[in-house]
Amino acid sequence: MRLKNQILLQINKYHVLYLALFLYFIWPSRFAMVYYENLKHDDIFDNLLKKTSRNSNIIDKINCNYYELFEKNQFFYKDPFSSELLNEAEIKQGGEYWPDNCNTLFSVAIIVPYRNRANQLKLFLRYMHNYLRKQQIHYKIFIVEQADSKAFNRAKLFNIGASYALRENFPCLIMQDVDLMPLKLGNIYACTERPRHMSSALDSFRFNLPYYGLFGGAIAMTSDTFIHINGFSNMFQGWGGEDDDIYARLVNKKYKIIRFNPSIAQYTMLKHSKEIPSPERYQFLRSGYLRFDTDGLNSLVFREIGLKSLDLYTNILVEV
Ligand code: UDP
Ligand code: MN
Repeated sequence: MRLKNQILLQINKYHVLYLALFLYFIWPSRFAMVYYENLKHDDIFDNLLKKTSRNSNIIDKINCNYYELFEKNQFFYKDPFSSELLNEAEIKQGGEYWPDNCNTLFSVAIIVPYRNRANQLKLFLRYMHNYLRKQQIHYKIFIVEQADSKAFNRAKLFNIGASYALRENFPCLIMQDVDLMPLKLGNIYACTERPRHMSSALDSFRFNLPYYGLFGGAIAMTSDTFIHINGFSNMFQGWGGEDDDIYARLVNKKYKIIRFNPSIAQYTMLKHSKEIPSPERYQFLRSGYLRFDTDGLNSLVFREIGLKSLDLYTNILVEV
């Protein structure tokens, strides 16, 4: 009896503690579970901006049918190391595609800030071209590459990419990190009328949203909206802050963001080491509102080093 008590005592002391710790680490809401307004699969189509940048009425084709995409919301992701690029000949020079057997209703420029992540870029291009062609959209991939060795300026690279996409009349801009892969096909790469935070269910956050105003990773907004808020600030050099600043720009102009349901908005992030956060980010963020109208698309200065139309993407090489 005494022995039994002793064993129980030992269990109490150590194992309960270990168990509590273990439960804490596997608890799905260890990252704050924030409720967010979201569109379910049968709300999505009606909320999309149906606009293309090509004249798709010339040939008498029927409109593409998007019903199955949302209804099935098929899981598409395979380890990109093991997936290969399918039917490469369908992809046009510069990394552009539109379906040939039906009229697409959506044109989108996909803009990716980039420097020195060759392996991730290779996987991204392979996976995204396979994924995006399933969605029957017209898209073009712009990789905006920082050529200088200054601190990485993600936000400014987005502004630069957007300025090229706007020249080609893309009505919708998607701005996304090179290491993010959407898992479900229902997460259509098109714009809702409201600005959309796309990567709200990210595996590295256990598919939860850490805070309501998070507007990083992958976002979509109409070109009109992007111009209206004056794009991103150009001043956020180094890691962090630029996504909170653009969220503040949207709020300032009375936009309400939207997200897709977490069953649709799932992403995986490729593993990489953490960049060192910029110590200046708080200071820029705090004073950001003073510069909304003067620092952004309308004050964008950079040097184009090269512009190449490659097989799988358009490469814009710049000094910022
Ligand atoms: N990035 C890059 N090279 C760098 C730093 C950043 O290409 O040296 C790009 C890349 O698209 C990356 C994005 O900027 O996905 C955001 O950086 P990071 O992935 O480090 O941010 P985090 O995952 O910590 O939010
Ligand atoms: Mn990342």
